[in-house]
Amino acid sequence: MTTKLPTLPSLQIPFNQPFATGKEFDYIRQAISNGHLSGNGAFTKKCQAWLEAEIGCHKALITHSCTAALEMAALLADIQPGDEIIMPSYTFVSTANAFVLRGGIPVFVDIRPDTFNLDESQIEAAITPKTKAIVPVHYAGVGCEMERIMEIAENYNLFVIEDAAQGVMSTYNSRPLGSIGHLGAVSFHETKNVISGEGGALLINQPDLMERAEIIWEKGTNRSQFFRGQIDKYTWVDVGSSYLPSEINAAFLWAQLEAAETITRKRLALWKQYHQGLIELEKQGKIRCPIIPQHCHHNAHMYYIILPDLESRTTLIKKLKTNNINSVFHYVPLHSSPAGQKYGRVSGNLTVTDDLSSRLLRLPMYPSLMSEQIELIMNTISQFLSSQ
Ligand SMILES: *Cc1c(COP(=O)(O)O)cnc(C)c1O
Repeated sequence: MTTKLPTLPSLQIPFNQPFATGKEFDYIRQAISNGHLSGNGAFTKKCQAWLEAEIGCHKALITHSCTAALEMAALLADIQPGDEIIMPSYTFVSTANAFVLRGGIPVFVDIRPDTFNLDESQIEAAITPKTKAIVPVHYAGVGCEMERIMEIAENYNLFVIEDAAQGVMSTYNSRPLGSIGHLGAVSFHETKNVISGEGGALLINQPDLMERAEIIWEKGTNRSQFFRGQIDKYTWVDVGSSYLPSEINAAFLWAQLEAAETITRKRLALWKQYHQGLIELEKQGKIRCPIIPQHCHHNAHMYYIILPDLESRTTLIKKLKTNNINSVFHYVPLHSSPAGQKYGRVSGNLTVTDDLSSRLLRLPMYPSLMSEQIELIMNTISQFLSSQ
């Protein structure tokens, strides 16, 4: 039997192409012959042990998405109706939704103009007696200023939940992203670097949260303790949900985790090619390229450029598209979205967020992207900008 994957017309350069290592089928086959297909089996344990060793978190629990891991974090932080959670507006909806589901109020703070990460200098002004947590989002896999953020959190007794969805294999001051806050959440969605279709993990850095995390993960039961022989019957002990992925997904993820370093190396090489090629246009003042602080090692999750204005971005997207190159932009800032306005509030002004979100353009980035294709993309951009 042969399986044929759908292919785009050969000339198309997609924005993303999910990477497969080739071992996924073998491991899924093994999962099937293990005769354990639901969650928390052998592959789940392998993946979790890998995350604990590589990231250095106290405990990792894999989930069916990063969204699920963030929801678990909101439960563990005991978010109550009216509690405020400080976060950037320039992020994916799940960062906010996880807390809104508990009745929490997202308080949107502006981002830094260099990394587009939560501006730590504006956090204190957003703190009120209702503030419960800070959620730094490591945009493009580049670390937020965690040292300062942890200091503020300690002074005001706040929880820190790292949205490290994009940050697998990245470090801040040599510490893996997701291992610095009280809790961290990572994503294995097919648009991220290391993937399992849909997938994620909750990283627990505060040991006393571990027992409750496991219960929430297992639908509010003490099933994990039961299987370890720590108790003689299992029962409903707390709120929870089904946050575990099946062993099929864990088997797929295992193949990817084994290749995490290779994937990162490959992406970094492509990222550098973009950077070296496009920095010339930056010198000419035509675009702005990503800025990576010295103390941050990133995972080449994305390559983006900042155009002069919304109009040039719109025209460039069209121009790239007519050359079969698919580029995308994001995010509609949460504070200007219908749900963000209904459930959240803004602290200070969000000038950088509003400005940047209208000018940022993400370029194709995936391990099978070829060097020649990057050249073509850069030439198209360069031609477009010189005609401006
Ligand atoms: C991708 C992403 C998420 C959600 O991840 P899922 O695994 O798709 O639920 C959350 N936050 C950020 C910043 C993301 O990039």
